[in-house]
Amino acid sequence: MIDLFKNAYPSAEIYQQSVIEKEGTLFFMIRNESETFLVIGSKENRSDYFSFRGKRVEVEGCFFLKCDLSAHNADCLRSLFSFTKPVPAGKRNSYGLGDRLGNAGAAHLKAIRETGFFPVLAQQSIRELERTGRTAEEVLDAASWAVYREGYKSGFGADGDHLKTTEDIDLMMNAGFTMFTIDPSEYVVNEAINMSHKELMHHFENLPWNLLHDQPEKFLERVGRVDVLLHDGFKLSPSLNEILTGMVKYGRVITHTKMLADYIKQKWPDYPAEMELSVDETDQPTTLTEHYLIASELAGLGVDLVSLAPRFCGDFEKGVDFRGDLDQFRHEYLQHLAIAGMFGGYKLSIHSGSDKFSVYEVIGSINAGAVHVKTAGTSYLEALRTVAEVNPELFLQILEFSKKRFDEDKKTYHISGRPENIPDLSSMNGDDLKNLLNQDDARQVLHVAYGSVLHGQGEISKKFKKEIMNTLELHQDLYESNLVKHFRRHLRPFG
Ligand SMILES: [Zn+2]
Repeated sequence: MIDLFKNAYPSAEIYQQSVIEKEGTLFFMIRNESETFLVIGSKENRSDYFSFRGKRVEVEGCFFLKCDLSAHNADCLRSLFSFTKPVPAGKRNSYGLGDRLGNAGAAHLKAIRETGFFPVLAQQSIRELERTGRTAEEVLDAASWAVYREGYKSGFGADGDHLKTTEDIDLMMNAGFTMFTIDPSEYVVNEAINMSHKELMHHFENLPWNLLHDQPEKFLERVGRVDVLLHDGFKLSPSLNEILTGMVKYGRVITHTKMLADYIKQKWPDYPAEMELSVDETDQPTTLTEHYLIASELAGLGVDLVSLAPRFCGDFEKGVDFRGDLDQFRHEYLQHLAIAGMFGGYKLSIHSGSDKFSVYEVIGSINAGAVHVKTAGTSYLEALRTVAEVNPELFLQILEFSKKRFDEDKKTYHISGRPENIPDLSSMNGDDLKNLLNQDDARQVLHVAYGSVLHGQGEISKKFKKEIMNTLELHQDLYESNLVKHFRRHLRPFG
């Protein structure tokens, strides 16, 4: 039947892994003139094709419906093929593969297949949605189509990242996301580390103890006696001051997280949801005492976490490798892992996980516990690498624009790259340009400007977005092979 269809569309390329027969009907995806479609074929002229909408095509007694990848058709796809619907990852190794352009999912799946990692394809924070001008539904639809195209039937996740409010949760729930990453950063009291004992005591006593289901004296009595053995003979026995500091800093993080967890349970009782807690965006690394307090209190309040993202030591800057002491990282990671093991064995989550190759080596060599890694910006940079290779003029325009935007766009990021350190471009050819994507300053300058480039004010961003998408569609094979190569580098160190 596919051959017949090819008579009508001789230049169409069939995605072989997408071919599925169901109830006497054939489903497959094609690429035709750099556009992708779902095709449904039948020997009879049906009045309805499982509610899909598209263009009817008759070829020598066979009937086809050629469907574009619309939101309506994505809904039909998910109700017909359950493997195109996201599911919770659970406490197994997983990898977050944020895709801000919505065209990287198939390559992500090619790279992650057979690695043992569960892919979390649709991963987008509220900030990313705002900066790219996309909806949560669009993000999920892109993932569903990618999963269908690759015939990936082992399950994938969808992560609403850095959610702060019940409204954020509703937005992601309504779109069908299954993983909810809670960002309680507004409730972190960073000043705690500089408080006197008296101030700490005052703040500690004024925590919302009714919500913590505890009383300050009882709490101190109980936690003051904590003396737990972590990894390799390391003992955690926090001092009074460490306990007070930890609770003043994170007490309201704990109650806010509990409130959101209850909200999910009450408003969405039958929904397959899992919850991550991220405390990565704070000034200071998360101490073991702080981690212990957060984990033990949440466990006591009945909050089940699938993963927790501490702020680790060293610098996890966007788009470049870890900067810091890897031995210290290894030591702390093992202790954090031991704490996670005490409270249900949730995963440690590595935020700003793009391109942290030396950290992956360490975690891979530890080979214990479970990990979740979040990446996003690195896929945008591979898109730009592809643009640099095949459309250097466009790439240079984007680079110049990103440099101009830098002072403004870097504000919400923790980065040290500088536009003035980007090598002189005047004598560069295509190969030099694509290698610019290996230079840390260029990577960061390009990285932080993604929102302005894709969805900034004015006509220039519309032009950039359109031309980037067109270039990547025309050179899809190169783009996908760049992504696959790059993500194999991300995944290989885990063994
Ligand atoms: Zn984060």
